[in-house]
Amino acid sequence: MFSPPEILHVLVRLRIDALLGIGVALAACEIARRHARRHGAGGDFSRVVCLTVVALALVGALLAEWTALVLGYPASTTLATLALARAAVLGASVVLGIVLLVTALRLALLRAELRAHADTERQLQQAKTAADNANRAKSDFLAVMSHEIRTPLNAVMGFASLLAETRLDEAQRGYLGTITTEGERLGSLINDVLDLTKIEEGRLILERLPFAPAETAYEVLRLLSARANEKKLDLRFEAQIAGPLLVAGDPLRFRQILVNLIDNAIKFTPQGSVTLFLAWTPPAGAGSPHGQLRVRVRDTGIGIAPEKLRDLFQKFMQVDTSTTRRYGGTGLGLAICRRLVRLMGGEIEVTSTPDQGSEFSFSLPFTDVALPPATHAAPPSPAANRGHIPRILVVDDMETNRFLLEVFLRRNGFAPELAAGGEEAIRLAAQNTYDAILMDLQMPDLDGYTAARRIRAAEPPGRHTPIIALTASVAKDTREKCLAAGMDEHLTKPLDLRKFKAFLDTFVRTVAPAATLAV
Ligand code: ADP
Repeated sequence: MFSPPEILHVLVRLRIDALLGIGVALAACEIARRHARRHGAGGDFSRVVCLTVVALALVGALLAEWTALVLGYPASTTLATLALARAAVLGASVVLGIVLLVTALRLALLRAELRAHADTERQLQQAKTAADNANRAKSDFLAVMSHEIRTPLNAVMGFASLLAETRLDEAQRGYLGTITTEGERLGSLINDVLDLTKIEEGRLILERLPFAPAETAYEVLRLLSARANEKKLDLRFEAQIAGPLLVAGDPLRFRQILVNLIDNAIKFTPQGSVTLFLAWTPPAGAGSPHGQLRVRVRDTGIGIAPEKLRDLFQKFMQVDTSTTRRYGGTGLGLAICRRLVRLMGGEIEVTSTPDQGSEFSFSLPFTDVALPPATHAAPPSPAANRGHIPRILVVDDMETNRFLLEVFLRRNGFAPELAAGGEEAIRLAAQNTYDAILMDLQMPDLDGYTAARRIRAAEPPGRHTPIIALTASVAKDTREKCLAAGMDEHLTKPLDLRKFKAFLDTFVRTVAPAATLAV
């Protein structure tokens, strides 16, 4: 066995400590390189760092040799002191090298991580752009599709309503009833899909008009009472509102929510009752201008299983697959209700017990207003203006649409003339004086905008023929584009012919540029 002084002697003589130091430096470099490669930072970890570390170990080895001279070994110092001094110098150089190595490695890893983040961010950005494009394509597709569906639907519904005024036997009336009901369902499905798209794209802007919630509720109940009567359901209304309440909000959207909820309650209640509760809590004090309108729709119907309640407000959600077959519907109504209630600042909730019934409820913040609601003057009837039969130019490239409007206008005391395209409309408008022009927008020869612009430009001073755009397009800027092209109003198809008649009575006789009437 060797004694410690003999080991020290061999260590110093053969420079084993120095070799060990260089070996440690080389091994550390290799480990660091592999680590960097494993974490995708191989390219960021420079070889220069390894060369520097090995160079530091070599310098340490040289300095270790130099200690013998500095300490005056063997004359003035012992072997143990020399070994200690060598170990200190070598250790310091190796530690320095390793610190350098670790720092360089961490920097390389950090750089690789930043690059990975940047890559992920770029990919996310690309994915977002792709999703935005897909969303835009979906909206465009929906707008085009709804246009394509609305145009023939308009003709089907129009002719159905003309047919209803002719002599029909009982069976034929039944068929016509089915055509009308299914047509209305198709129309409301298109409206639902469009509403949802509008809300999801943030394009739905709520109105702020004075309205009486109790009156709106009453109207909705009256509208749906026929269906409740058919099923022998008790349709009730309970209101806790002190005095006549007028609030500022969007009456149409409020009505839409009520119609959806009460219609569902009637649909899913085979017997018993459906009750609408309204309760108004006035603003708490001067600090808060909003009161709360609490709305509850309770039924004694089939109820909803607890596990289905969570997803009830998702799009196309129907509690069981036989729902569509048994009750109809699309599963969009509640999704729209939830989004509308949220837009109005509330949250819709539901509680339900299977076979006992359900209750849908929400509270909306409203300010109550002292203004009386705007009253619309009754439209003057054509009879009031018997001396003159208004001439109306119908411009549409589709024969069925022209025919429908011709029959409708003739029947209602107007004198229609027809143009199958934009060029023909311009020619006729230059030759004749019309009381109004009904202008389709999409026509193959010349679109409605250009035709309207040219008709306006050719009008003699002092004349302004009302031009009303009739289109199935639901694109959001259609109305603005129509007004910019010199048209006076824009109505979407399918037209409700009864309301359209009232509109014409008002519009054609009391020419009101850019009038806003709901048709
Ligand atoms: P739709 O009525 O067109 O199917 P909704 O979104 O309005 O779509 O409703 C989604 C589903 O929620 C319905 O299909 C039905 O299963 C369930 N549901 C809604 N209201 C009620 C209710 N009052 N009672 C029982 N189930 C209901």
